[in-house]
Amino acid sequence: MPRLKCAYCGKNYGRRNITSETVRWSSPTKQVTTTSGGSVTVLDGPATPAPAYRGNGIVVKEHNAYLSADNGRMVMTRDIWDGETWIGGYAPFCTLRCALAYARAAYAAARKPLAKRRGNRT
Ligand SMILES: [Zn+2]
Repeated sequence: MPRLKCAYCGKNYGRRNITSETVRWSSPTKQVTTTSGGSVTVLDGPATPAPAYRGNGIVVKEHNAYLSADNGRMVMTRDIWDGETWIGGYAPFCTLRCALAYARAAYAAARKPLAKRRGNRT
């Protein structure tokens, strides 16, 4: 689908329809003892890179990866765009202002031929 174009002003509008997926993967970790005597899981060396995206979409953004405290695995949010879907605005208008302007113009245009037709009959 091409980018959304306002039916009144002709400007492009809308934003890419982004979906987010959570990526989880394993990276070597180790247990360390805290000063209070507890134990925490930390990365053992540099984190393993996130698995590559394999879908058909376009990776818009990969957010910062971090080690989950819940399960000791890496977590990252990946924003994907399908490459064609746009959302937002007030389809087929960019704004309510344009929708209103279009409605007024259409109303005015609809009245004109009516008046002319009446004139032709007499
Ligand atoms: Zn517009």
